[in-house]
Amino acid sequence: METNLPTELLEALRRDAGGSALILTGGGNLTAAAQAAAAAMECENHAQAPCGHCGHCRKVLAGIHPDVVTAADSEHKMISVEVLRTLRADAYILPNEGRRKIFIFPDCALLDQGAQNVLLKVVEEGPEHAAFLFCAKSAGVLLPTLRSRCAQWRVGGDAEAVAAEDPRTGELCRLLAGRDHLGLAAFFTALETARCSREDLQTILEQTWQRVAQALLLASGCAAEPAGEEVQALSQGLSRPALSAAADLLREQARQLRFNLNVGHTAGAMRWTRSSPPASS
Ligand SMILES: [Zn+2]
Repeated sequence: METNLPTELLEALRRDAGGSALILTGGGNLTAAAQAAAAAMECENHAQAPCGHCGHCRKVLAGIHPDVVTAADSEHKMISVEVLRTLRADAYILPNEGRRKIFIFPDCALLDQGAQNVLLKVVEEGPEHAAFLFCAKSAGVLLPTLRSRCAQWRVGGDAEAVAAEDPRTGELCRLLAGRDHLGLAAFFTALETARCSREDLQTILEQTWQRVAQALLLASGCAAEPAGEEVQALSQGLSRPALSAAADLLREQARQLRFNLNVGHTAGAMRWTRSSPPASS
C-alpha cells in the first residue's frame, strides 16, 4: 500500500532493520506515518510491508491491533507519568499475536521532561519485541538523551520549512549566554512588534530549549553529541541551575503557545522572568 514513509525507512522496516525506537518528524501526517510503520513491523508480507490487506495490517490501520498501543491520557492535558509507567510495564509483556509490541506517541509535545525520563531506560534497553514510535513536529521537544537513543526520520509535507533553523534562535541563544537582560527584553519586544506568528515563536523557543538542554548536558559532563558553538557558549555563560531554569521556562512557554496563548503573553512572560540569573556555583 502507499504510505508517506521515507523510502529508506520503509526498506529498513521490510528487512526488520528499522530499529526499535523511531522519531518521526516534519510537516507530514505523522500519525499516519506511525501507523504505517507499525503496520510494516507487524505485516505478514515482508516484501510488500505494509501490504494493507493482511490481518495485522488491517487491525493496525483500524486502530484495533492488540499489540499496537497509542499513548493517550484522557484525564490530563499532558500525558501523566502514571500512564507512562503502566505503558512501560506493558512493554515487557510479550505481544499477543503480533511479532512486536509497538507504542505510538502521537504528539511528543505532550511528554514533559519527567514523562520522557520514565521512558529512557525501556527505550534504550527494553525487550527486543518492544518498539517505540515518537511523533514530533520538531524533534526539539524531545530530550537530547531520548533523541540520542532513536533513529530520526523526516516525513513528507513541508518538512524542509520545518527543518530550517530560524536565525532568531541563534540570536536568542547568544543573548541568554551573555545574560543580556536588556537585550532579551528588546528581542521579545521586537518579535511582538514584528507580529511574529505563534508557530514561529514556538519554533524559536523549542530550538532554543534544545540548545539549552544540550548545554546543560555538556555542563554536566554527559553530552552525547559534539556541541555546536551556541551550545558551548551557553554552557560557559550560565551556571547549571541557570541553564536548568532557562530550559524549564523555554519549554513551558513553548508548551503554552501550543495551547493557544498569544505571542504577546509569551513575550511578556519571557521579558519579565529572570530566565538567566547570574552564574553561581
Ligand atoms: Zn500486511
